[in-house]
Amino acid sequence: MDIPALIAFLRARLAALEARAEHLHDGEGCSAHSEFSWGYEYDPQDCDCGEPDRARAHVEATRRRIDWCAEVLGRRDLSNYGQFGALKDDPDALAVTLAVEILRLEALPYASHYDYREEWRP
Ligand SMILES: [Zn+2]
Repeated sequence: MDIPALIAFLRARLAALEARAEHLHDGEGCSAHSEFSWGYEYDPQDCDCGEPDRARAHVEATRRRIDWCAEVLGRRDLSNYGQFGALKDDPDALAVTLAVEILRLEALPYASHYDYREEWRP
């Protein structure tokens, strides 16, 4: 499994989410969206739903999880991850497995993205 590619994929998705966080609001329940007799206005500065901040916090928390996983995995060659006995000599096999599976789960919501690889599917 190409872990560096998986991590790069996740970081790219998070950067994209962070870039549009300002415009993620709780639908019509947020004051960023206002209807007037003359029409509709959108101003993210009027946000009172908190969704942009929650999206940014989600991005930051996910980045930290990814960093922890990358730290655990180090420079291991995991090209044969998933094959029987692949981690039998690794004293950190449980931590490595946990890190890989967390990364795969983090990527799952983006499975429809054209850069997603089926080998990452948990
Ligand atoms: Zn809002």
